[in-house]
Amino acid sequence: MERRVHDTDLCIVGGGLSGLCAGIAAAREGIRVVIMQDRPMLGGNASSEIRMWVRGAKGPENRETGIISELEEENIYRNPTLCYSVWDGVMWEKAKKEKNIELILNCSCCDCETVKEPDGERIVSVTGWQLTTYAWHTVRAKYFADCSGDSVLATLSGARWRVGREARSEYGEAMGREEADRKTMGMSCLIQARQTDHPVEFIPPEWAYVYEKDEDFNFACVRTPVADGSRSIADQQIKVATSMSRPHKLGTSETNFWWIEMGGDRDSIRDTEEMRDELLRIAYGIWDHVKNRGDHDADNWELEWVGFLPGKRESRRYIGEYVMTENDVEAGGKFDDIIAYGGWPMDDHNPAGFKSYEYSFPPSILYPAPSPYGIPYRVLYGREVKNMFFAGRNISVTHAALSSTRVMATCALIGQAMGTAASICVKEGQTPHGVYLNRIRELQGKLLDQGCFLPGKKREIPALSLGAKLNLSDGDREILFNGEERPDHDWKQNYVSLPVGGEISFDFGEKKKLGTLRILFDPDFSRKSVSENKKMRVFAQRAMRGLDFVPMKVARTLVKRFEIEVDGRKVAGYENWHNSLFRLPLDTEGRRITVRFLETWGADDVHVFSCDVN
Ligand SMILES: Cc1cc2nc3c(=O)[nH]c(=O)nc-3n(C[C@H](O)[C@H](O)[C@H](O)COP(=O)(O)OP(=O)(O)OC[C@H]3O[C@@H](n4cnc5c(N)ncnc54)[C@H](O)[C@@H]3O)c2cc1C
Repeated sequence: MERRVHDTDLCIVGGGLSGLCAGIAAAREGIRVVIMQDRPMLGGNASSEIRMWVRGAKGPENRETGIISELEEENIYRNPTLCYSVWDGVMWEKAKKEKNIELILNCSCCDCETVKEPDGERIVSVTGWQLTTYAWHTVRAKYFADCSGDSVLATLSGARWRVGREARSEYGEAMGREEADRKTMGMSCLIQARQTDHPVEFIPPEWAYVYEKDEDFNFACVRTPVADGSRSIADQQIKVATSMSRPHKLGTSETNFWWIEMGGDRDSIRDTEEMRDELLRIAYGIWDHVKNRGDHDADNWELEWVGFLPGKRESRRYIGEYVMTENDVEAGGKFDDIIAYGGWPMDDHNPAGFKSYEYSFPPSILYPAPSPYGIPYRVLYGREVKNMFFAGRNISVTHAALSSTRVMATCALIGQAMGTAASICVKEGQTPHGVYLNRIRELQGKLLDQGCFLPGKKREIPALSLGAKLNLSDGDREILFNGEERPDHDWKQNYVSLPVGGEISFDFGEKKKLGTLRILFDPDFSRKSVSENKKMRVFAQRAMRGLDFVPMKVARTLVKRFEIEVDGRKVAGYENWHNSLFRLPLDTEGRRITVRFLETWGADDVHVFSCDVN
């Protein structure tokens, strides 16, 4: 078989949303990146192969920004009907557009060469098998990142890892077990269907399970106070857990059948193929139940897609420099080395998955988590392998904390932070641990500049802009330069509101060297939805497609048309701009800059959180 060798700065194994966002962030910081991904497309559980909805921190004012929102804004603009294949193309194109990224798709990493050095192991290369070319690809790199979800490099590199649920005695977690076990949240094969204008018959395969009545797999949803020693939040109020039932009402956003889940009480890696067979029997049995057994108002619905690749929630987790726990989540994650945040409830799935109905257990229990809570940098690397990062659902957290940090917008933020940290390593010759010791403020500053929100941190405004005379009132100037780029909890908006056609201009008093112009528009934090579908308030992804499906619309507050002048000369103009973050290296000299906002995507006013130049 052919052997191909690649040399790069950072090799990322796994191209889910964490690996993709890590790769884009690192490439944009100017380092060379290879992403080795074992599937034909990027996006992992969010891709057309698995079709999970991207979710993140609760509360519209906590919606994730950075690369994940750029992906979402592009998808809504280009793919208003939310076709999954078009979404695959959007993710692929974002990676392809970065000249510093080399994609090796359909390539499964299965080997890793390490050398022992006085202060730990170092990975020299990883090797993968490419399905489409029958070739072995070896990637030699200065740094490696495991974003494979399953932590493939853990067992190959000598890093520390574990699987399963911690004992309460280990970290003092209320959600901890009496004794540690190897059980995890399970894996799922989802179903998608569409509504037609005529009756559609469904003949189930003979191997499908039969569920005659709802009670054969469902039970009532319950909300119960949690009694067993819940701390922090519990000291002030009763902690209430919500148990999830198995909704199967059809409609655009009623359900995506996430609860067709198995494998949590098996080996979530080795037993995957067996679990997939079982999941298919359940999935087709459920569709038979919806269509043929009982009244589900489903006569005109037809099955459009069944996932054949189980999406995984949990397998191996690394043990890093710090292990983040349920207690950290509940305490709001007030870390000095914060690099990302979460805010999804602790959504702990029952390891028995779909079969838990046999014991009248809920498929999942939601324990409250504050939103947002901080995630520290130290969960992204360990000390044993000194040139390796990890990001995504395999970071150094306990099972309880993972039940919240695992959602994909959170994983994407973690990935963006990891890729940016890796770029600092490459450029400044640091180890991941060295970044923690010496460069954490630089990393946080870069993330804020990239439009990421770090709760408790403010972006620093460039001195050049602070020294300029602006055409705004003192109040607006203060808002523009306050370093906050989203509404706060009380919905104080923090943006400057201008009429359409209005402008912001800077006068530096004399000719100055101008660096990068950066603008942050409002992605419409307060939106109710980007369509009339009720769940499209956050990240827009569909499951079922009803006849009443309404296409998405670009967030109305984004600025569609604007232009930039330096000393009265137009240097750039944009039509159909649909991102919240805008950065343009001006690399010129000038005394005055004017940005003129000519049209929005529907809002009456232009909302500008930040506008400055360095
Ligand atoms: C059914 C289900 C429901 C969920 N519900 C939600 C939800 O509603 N909202 C939400 O936001 N999150 C949800 N999650 C959680 C979320 O999908 C995962 O936690 C998240 O996808 C993790 O992102 P990741 O990038 O770490 O991993 P993944 O998305 O798993 O991506 C990892 C990628 O690495 C690739 N890979 C693996 N091994 C190798 C290898 N050896 N070589 C090369 N590539 C490799 C994989 O093919 C995959 O594409 C759900 C998960 C499941 C399974």
